[in-house]
Amino acid sequence: MKEIVGRFAPSPSGRMHLGNIYTALLSWLSVKSRGGKWILRIEDLDPQRSKMEYARQIEDDLHWLGLEWDEGGIDGIGSNGPYLQSQRHNLYEEALAKLKASGLCYPCTCTRADILATQAPHESDGRVVYKGTCRPSMLPSPYIERPKAAVRIYVPDEEITFTDRIKGTQTVNLALHCGDFIVRRGDGAWSYQLAVVVDDALMGVTEVMRGDDLLLSAAQQIYLYRLLGYTPPEFAHVPLVCNEAGIRLSKRDKSLSMEYLRANHTPEDVLGMAAHRAALIPTLHPVSLSELINNEKIMHYEL
Ligand code: GLU
Repeated sequence: MKEIVGRFAPSPSGRMHLGNIYTALLSWLSVKSRGGKWILRIEDLDPQRSKMEYARQIEDDLHWLGLEWDEGGIDGIGSNGPYLQSQRHNLYEEALAKLKASGLCYPCTCTRADILATQAPHESDGRVVYKGTCRPSMLPSPYIERPKAAVRIYVPDEEITFTDRIKGTQTVNLALHCGDFIVRRGDGAWSYQLAVVVDDALMGVTEVMRGDDLLLSAAQQIYLYRLLGYTPPEFAHVPLVCNEAGIRLSKRDKSLSMEYLRANHTPEDVLGMAAHRAALIPTLHPVSLSELINNEKIMHYEL
C-alpha cells in the first residue's frame, strides 16, 4: 500500500497563532492516525517577509506542542530536501522549462494597473482575472524570452472538477476564476502555485490539508500537476479559525498568538482549544496528542 504523506507548509513571516496550530494539528493527526509521514516545509519564497528567526520559532512552537515531523525542517532531515523553498530554485527552473516546452507559456509585461484597467465593473469581489492581453494569437507556440517579463501559463476555458475530503466536489473554470496565471514573476520570484506543486509532487505528498482560503488554488495546482505529469494529492481544506468578531485570525489577535498561549497555557490546553474548535472533543478541556490520535472523528472532521 502507498505510504500516506502529509505536510505542514508555513510561511515564516511571523509567529504562529491558534489558526496555524489548528491546521497543523489536523494535518498531523490525519497522517499519524494512519501510520503516515508528516513533512515540515518552510515556505520562504518571499524574501521581504520571510525570516529565519520566524522559521526557528515555528519549529520551537511545534516541538512545544509535540507535533514532531518525520522529514524536513530547517535542518532538512530526509532525502527529499532541501525543505526550505528558498533553496529549491533549481527544481523550480526544471519545472518551468517543462512548462515552457509545452508551448503554453508566454511572457507578460502587463503591470497591475494595466490588468485592473481590463476588469469589468461587476468583478468587484477583489478577484482579478487576467484577460490574456499578452497571450500570443497562436498557442501552443515556442516561448520567446523577454527580459523582466513575467511568465504566464495559458488556461483552457474548461471545468476542472476535484473532490475535497472536507468540502466535497468542487468545479472551477480557471479561465473565469483567474485567467492565464503567473508561474514566475517579472522580478524572477517563483509563484506560490508553481513552487507548491513542484514541492508536494517531489516530496511524495499524498494529502494536502490546509486552510480553506486556498480551496480554489487547488484547481490551479491540479492543472499544473497535469501539465508536469504528476499525480495530484488528495486535498482537504479546513475552515479558517476566526476571532470573536468572526474575522479570520491574524497576527493582531494577540490572545490567540503562540506567544500569549505559551505564556499562559500548557501544550495540552492549546491542543484542547484547537481540537475543540475542530469538534474533535465536545467540551473545552486539556487533551494530549495520544488521546486525540485515537479519536475516531479524525477522518470525518465534523467541521
Ligand atoms: N505557505 C502557505 C501558508 O502559510 C500554505 C500553503 C499550502 O499549504 O499550500 O499559508
